[in-house]
Amino acid sequence: MSIPADLIDKKDALIATAKRCFDLRLQTNAGGNLSVRLDAIDAIVIKPSGIGFNECTRDNLQVVHLDGTIEDSPFKPSKDLGFHLDLYRIRDDIRAVVHCHSPWATGYASAGLEIPCLTVQTIEKIGRMPLIALSPMGGPQTDREISPVFQDPKIVAAVLANHGTIGVGATLMKAQYLAEIIEETAHIAYVRDTLMAAHGKSTADLPQFGTNTEEKAALGV
Ligand SMILES: [Zn+2]
Repeated sequence: MSIPADLIDKKDALIATAKRCFDLRLQTNAGGNLSVRLDAIDAIVIKPSGIGFNECTRDNLQVVHLDGTIEDSPFKPSKDLGFHLDLYRIRDDIRAVVHCHSPWATGYASAGLEIPCLTVQTIEKIGRMPLIALSPMGGPQTDREISPVFQDPKIVAAVLANHGTIGVGATLMKAQYLAEIIEETAHIAYVRDTLMAAHGKSTADLPQFGTNTEEKAALGV
């Protein structure tokens, strides 16, 4: 393979995003994975298995073609390589994927609860973050469970039961922002639900609200 023109830039962007995700404690140890699509060829750069978000370097990141061919590498491919590749195959607008095991969001997912989009920002930027069940045999989610949810072009974020989160976007930073918003929203939801339970309130007591666009439409402006 001749070196794609944007390879070094994309590797550096991935390294910076992984460090940010680690610094925010959204992903510790060697779990989670993130990837970015190359513009020059039909391939992605992805973190391999067994390398932490804080240990990504130009030398350990892997290049994998969308047909599944892995460029020569001494590292094991990520267990989640299959769902990353399929997300890029099914949606042209997906140029980057951040998958992490951030604790507040994964706590919700492990309780079988969908994280509510309860702030104005999440309604505007995400709309809904579906909870994706484990595989039918109880194993980790694969493209069989994940891709059907992302077939809907409006879906940019999802949460995996007993596993973690997925944010997708046009750039690594956009996908990373979603990883941060998912986690922040789970934390806010936990505080809200704990306080409401302590004060004997239910969600029926809360105001309903929508997006700016919906408000303008309702006002006819
Ligand atoms: Zn994972």
